[in-house]
Amino acid sequence: DVVVVGSANVDLVVRVDRRPGRGETVLGSDLSTHPGGKGANQAVAAARLGARVALLGRVGADGHGRLLRESLERDKVDLGHLREAGAPTGVALITVGPEGDNSIIVSPGANARLEEQDVADAAGLLRSAPVVSLQLETPLPTVLAAARAAHRAVFNLSPPAPVPDELLALCDPLVVNEHEARMVLGAGGPPAEQARALLRLGPRSVVITLGAGGAVAADASGVTTIPSPRVEAVDTTGAGDAFTGALAWRLARGDGLADAVAFAVRVGAATVRGAGAQSSFPTLSEVEEP
Ligand code: ADP
Repeated sequence: DVVVVGSANVDLVVRVDRRPGRGETVLGSDLSTHPGGKGANQAVAAARLGARVALLGRVGADGHGRLLRESLERDKVDLGHLREAGAPTGVALITVGPEGDNSIIVSPGANARLEEQDVADAAGLLRSAPVVSLQLETPLPTVLAAARAAHRAVFNLSPPAPVPDELLALCDPLVVNEHEARMVLGAGGPPAEQARALLRLGPRSVVITLGAGGAVAADASGVTTIPSPRVEAVDTTGAGDAFTGALAWRLARGDGLADAVAFAVRVGAATVRGAGAQSSFPTLSEVEEP
């Protein structure tokens, strides 16, 4: 149903009372180690809902790479195009402060070695999928090549960075959160206005996620605001990735944009109810309407 082209990281998380200054050492909690990376998160989110998903990416020939493969296999993500790179598996070094605030250093490692050639080698796979889901934790030329090869590209412009008009024009939809929308447009504003402004940049459709506020969807037929179910938010990590993975799957199944977004906001809301990223992604029965 969905091919995800993107990143796979191991998240290494330590809780601290305060962060070290220059030249200083502080003691933190026990280390916790979690599978992550936006690409792997999107893939797992869709697969856990029942989608058939392949992840095109790179990991290192190391223990972290094995950990990622094992966790992706548990969620039945097809790893036929997850290659090894001559570099360590990507990691995110995360400290969590006393207020739950994150500071993160990402070492892209193998993710930075995902090349246009990897996309070319997977041409048959990409052609077979109605939707290809993309983010920006792998090199831009690779993302652009994948968008060109896709029947339909869902692109989460995250982490935000300047991208060529050609890539924007291939997005259907472009998916951003409010912060990313502001970065791309260089100005804030009401979500519906932001969505219209993003649409003028060329994508066929736009989705802005609004946290507890749900999401807005915009295409040539108009702008729709879709509220999120009210939930008690425990940890919002990975909510955007779960949203995008779910959205990609529903679009691949033939849903219209507003219906797919209405489903994806339920998946996002379910995700924030639990701690961690992939560990809190729901199964289909957990988000189906009663
Ligand atoms: P990101 O994780 O990229 O910052 P958002 O915070 O906008 O993205 O969240 C993505 C989606 O997750 C939202 O569209 C919504 O469906 C859901 N979500 C996030 N936070 C909450 C919340 N506090 N309550 C309910 N749903 C939420």
